[in-house]
Amino acid sequence: MSRDLAVFNVARAPDGALTMEGVRLIDVAREFGTPCYVYSQAALMAAFHGLDRALRTARAGRPYLICYAVKANSNLSILSLFASLGAGFDIVSGGELRRVLAAGGDARKVVFSGLGKTADEMALALEAGIKCFNVESEPELERLNGVAGRLGVRAPVSLRVNPDVDAKTHPYISTGLKNNKFGVAFERARDVYARAATMPHIDVIGVDCHIGSQLTDTAPLTEAMGKIVALADELAAAGIPLHHVCPGGGIGITYRDEAPIDLAAYASALQAALGERDVELLLEPGRVLVGNAGVLLTRVEYVKPSTAKNFTVVDAAMNDLIRPSLYQAHHEVLNAGESSAAPLDCDVVGPVCESADVLAYNRRVSAREGDILALLSAGAYGFVMASNYNSRPRAAEVLISAGVPRVVRKRESFDDLIAHERV
Ligand SMILES: *Cc1c(COP(=O)(O)O)cnc(C)c1O
Repeated sequence: MSRDLAVFNVARAPDGALTMEGVRLIDVAREFGTPCYVYSQAALMAAFHGLDRALRTARAGRPYLICYAVKANSNLSILSLFASLGAGFDIVSGGELRRVLAAGGDARKVVFSGLGKTADEMALALEAGIKCFNVESEPELERLNGVAGRLGVRAPVSLRVNPDVDAKTHPYISTGLKNNKFGVAFERARDVYARAATMPHIDVIGVDCHIGSQLTDTAPLTEAMGKIVALADELAAAGIPLHHVCPGGGIGITYRDEAPIDLAAYASALQAALGERDVELLLEPGRVLVGNAGVLLTRVEYVKPSTAKNFTVVDAAMNDLIRPSLYQAHHEVLNAGESSAAPLDCDVVGPVCESADVLAYNRRVSAREGDILALLSAGAYGFVMASNYNSRPRAAEVLISAGVPRVVRKRESFDDLIAHERV
């Protein structure tokens, strides 16, 4: 791995203990138990300010809004922090909207993505007064027009178009190709906009796309931006001027040794694509704001040598962090203390009864029973994807702010697990 731990917002104390914001992670594990997600508020703020500064510096004066993609990490404390920094939010469900509102977020800065919005979700969002619906199909447009009509309001709309750009990322997190379920085909977009413009309860205000996630090359992102800006020009010429343009999210982070996207260069490319056009720039970043601000702490239960392969069995599992099982994703594994154990080539696995329950493949780990390991880069698509599979209570979440760790979500109990069941 790149041994520059600063990328991961952790450091080694002189005695070998792994720290986050100066707090020893073995102490966090001792105090709050394992498995346990730990986030750094300083790292969250630095990630937000980094992107914010890049957008502002690239072109002073153009209005822009960073709509944090809530699905990456929807803990209320994180939403509340971003709201306090002036962020907007990109949501994909009524539940996420209610989280944003519960955390003190401003509905007028919310954009609503997703291809399966129900009529109830549309009504909830219209009543809250959100900024924009990112509409993904013609039937959705018709339904939204109907729901807005019944409520006596107009729905602000952007079409999510599919620019048919290859994001060159994992197929499960690639969303911008033709054969993908997301968005309106680029060739159809003009016709759909023309129809939308005639609908009595629809206000056409923007265009957006989102071509994939964990992108480490700006070329596909700027290619997609070029396409939607050209579309906006065509629409303006046809009498449908847009107020905002949004190239979505997808900015990748360093999990292993990926060179991350240069935010200043990306922001400049976006601003250059917009030139002198009088439009607002929206972004929907998720992972880049939270991914490297979090780690997952887990305790070693067993070190299990076997003839073909060695296993380090830990108390976290695929139900806590599914990314390695789902996307073959890589998370660095470090001993959170100083281990005197001999290094072992092994897979780090959880106790769940699935062969796919592997958190890290083919690693060299020095650990004994009882040691605490940290899985790095676990702040995005970690806890939010957790389940109770194998009747495992979901992990605790802890936020370190100003050097003080506090629980921001209690570990689930057995009673929580069965609370909604009846015999
Ligand atoms: C998931 C998603 C995002 C955020 O993606 P990241 O890769 O986490 O930045 C943004 N926009 C839409 C529509 C999404 O579905």
